[in-house]
Amino acid sequence: MTLFENYSLTGLNTLGFEATAERFSRPKTLPQLIELLALADTNGWPVLLLGGGSNLILSAWVPGLVIQLANSGIECVAQQGEQVIIEVAAAQGWHSLVEYTLEQGWFGLENMALIPGTVGAAPIQNIGAYGAELKDCFVSLTAWDREQQQRVTLERSQCDFGYRWSRFKGEDAGRFVIWSVRFALSTTAAPELSYGGVADYLARQGINEPAPQQVFSAICDIRSSKLPDPATVGNAGSFFENPIIPQSQYGALKAKFPALVAFADQPGLYKLAAGWLIDQAGWKGYNAGSVGVYDKQALVLVNLGGGDREQLLTLAADIQQSVRDKFGVALQIEPRQYPA
Ligand code: FAD
Ligand code: NAP
Repeated sequence: MTLFENYSLTGLNTLGFEATAERFSRPKTLPQLIELLALADTNGWPVLLLGGGSNLILSAWVPGLVIQLANSGIECVAQQGEQVIIEVAAAQGWHSLVEYTLEQGWFGLENMALIPGTVGAAPIQNIGAYGAELKDCFVSLTAWDREQQQRVTLERSQCDFGYRWSRFKGEDAGRFVIWSVRFALSTTAAPELSYGGVADYLARQGINEPAPQQVFSAICDIRSSKLPDPATVGNAGSFFENPIIPQSQYGALKAKFPALVAFADQPGLYKLAAGWLIDQAGWKGYNAGSVGVYDKQALVLVNLGGGDREQLLTLAADIQQSVRDKFGVALQIEPRQYPA
């Protein structure tokens, strides 16, 4: 296992920001990971766990140690009736896992096709799209607990999953290095089509009872038409979380802005489409030179070339201010800024 110094992270973050890690290593085994973490603790190096870099806003200089796991494997560990339990290494790419499970006839992940990044990062914000969330298929994970210095298994009930949220993003940020994840999938298809135009898209193709592969293809098509491919336009997906507001505030906003895009959430709460708010505040397609707002989806901020963290955060602050002024709603940034 090599410990690199002054290692470029420019190709390892989907915003495409120029960044250099003071130290960088890619452990393939758990003992290697433990050895690296011990070295970091002894020397007082801050540690960043890097997956696919698709939910990170990096500074040009990343001090300490950056660890990118390099374990591999997808294993079917149990099958009973229609249920299949698989265990997947943290470094496995998320989208390739979705493809692999579909090929095996194991269903449940298809609505989360094309989400960039790794399996190990997926529980951090309980990734979700088109009405599906990681927690729906999640069984447990194994992790190295840096606080207790031991390998642990955490069941779903121990992860505090919420809307784009988990304990790993909250009180326990940085404590657990996720090493593998178990999922429960089904050999029987149960398409979830209620969300964001998926059923309409399929119906336009004459498909009313889609197979999981058709749902997968539809979602890939819809996403590709609306979202920039990080390989060509640097971005970190949705830049802001969708705000959840009380019903009373929703009622007042809806009266003032009848076209407001919002969805009933938990009882007494509404979720606002942050992209709509930003669009209505006039930002869609905005070009600030090196950074901007994507012209097909205002929720996505982009690196137009040569952009950096400071420029992006300045643009984000301007957007937050104008949305606050127009709608009285606070937008929170979704990707993690590192160093904080
Ligand atoms: P990174 O960005 O590398 O890391 C994210 C966080 O996880 C960091 O805090 C990191 O330290 C931590 N981490 C990474 N690996 C581990 C590990 N093994 N153990 C402990 N901590 C770890 N998200 C959605 O939820 N739904 C979407 O539909 C979606 N669409 C996107 C579309 C685009 C074009 C892009 C660029 C992003 C999108 N995202 C979406 C956001 C992003 O893809 C997810 O958050 C993804 O899970 C991040 O994975 P990653 O491997 O790139 O993590
Ligand atoms: P969209 O389909 O244009 O919808 C806009 C917003 O409305 C979404 O954020 C979605 O909320 C919400 N929504 C749509 N239909 C809904 C329904 N039937 N019930 C409740 N809420 C509904 O969104 P998009 O930007 O193209 O993204 C499509 C999906 O991919 C969304 O689920 C989105 O979360 C996900 N995505 C996430 C990221 C990320 O980085 N986090 C990036 C790209 C796409 P939800 O966000 O709660 O689903």
